[in-house]
Amino acid sequence: MTDRIAVVGAGQMGNGIAHVFAQSGFEVVMIDVTQDALDKGRATIAKNIERQVKKGTIRGEEQVEILSRIDLSMDLDRAADASLIIEAASEDSGLKFRIFTDLDRIAKPEAILASNTSSISITEIGRRTSRPDKVVGMHFMNPVPVMKLVEIIRGLATSDATTEYVTDLSLRLGKTPVEVNDFPGFVSNRVLMPMINEAVYCLMEGVGEPDAIDQVMTLGMNHPMGPLALADLIGLDTCVAILEVLRDGLGDPKYRPCPLLKKYVAAGWLGRKSGRGFYTYNK
Ligand code: NAD
Repeated sequence: MTDRIAVVGAGQMGNGIAHVFAQSGFEVVMIDVTQDALDKGRATIAKNIERQVKKGTIRGEEQVEILSRIDLSMDLDRAADASLIIEAASEDSGLKFRIFTDLDRIAKPEAILASNTSSISITEIGRRTSRPDKVVGMHFMNPVPVMKLVEIIRGLATSDATTEYVTDLSLRLGKTPVEVNDFPGFVSNRVLMPMINEAVYCLMEGVGEPDAIDQVMTLGMNHPMGPLALADLIGLDTCVAILEVLRDGLGDPKYRPCPLLKKYVAAGWLGRKSGRGFYTYNK
């Protein structure tokens, strides 16, 4: 039985993944490059658990138990005793390739290495290791404690055993795994990102204000969130990175990120995580 999990990256996705594993009884080490990122990640987990207690989805005493199962570290070597390592660092292929090369050296030979990447090729990530059969995509959705889907991405060399392992594990977390093949953006972001990008073009071209664009999609198409609010939740830097992978990977300029989206990122307006994107937020 898998009991030790390492999560690399303590940002919005990493802390959510650490949260759901700890809630399901796993011992977790959450690793990031700065103490500040680790502290913020832990504080977010504590806040989200409080929300679950208020909603009555978990008992009050579980709060301490869940938090006690999550260790924090700035040392990647702490992943050495994990049976499963999930990488959730920033959406940058060079960074992910380096992390996987390091993890391949550090991890137990039988350990599974998963990436939470939104778009980067699992096949290419696997190539950076000596165990591409044990490299797989586990694409959790944001916010992780709430969203049911885990998109399971099979790289070209990912084995059946690895795919079955992460599928079973996702079920144990109470999630619904859906298996797809490795292609730029997989299914989720291949379909979602062009819509978000088009919404930003609508804003740039003055077709509508952010509220109007989002309301057309929430009230008219029954989407729970408008595309601009969703982009703010995902992170505008992450949206640009995903669109660039789609554009380059599929070789089609229709995926180019809208200049206004790039301008917001250049200004440091990254959405909720920076307090400002298409909307403003209290940090
Ligand atoms: P984020 O910016 O909130 O967090 C990224 C974290 O990675 C930061 O804390 C950063 O310090 C850390 N990091 C950078 N280099 C590192 C290293 N070498 N070792 C350890 N940690 C390192 O980003 P996020 O939104 O949590 O996204 C993380 C991953 O999840 C990305 O691949 C992204 O595409 C994917 N993802 C994001 C969403 C979303 O809605 N934001 C949804 C699904 C998947």
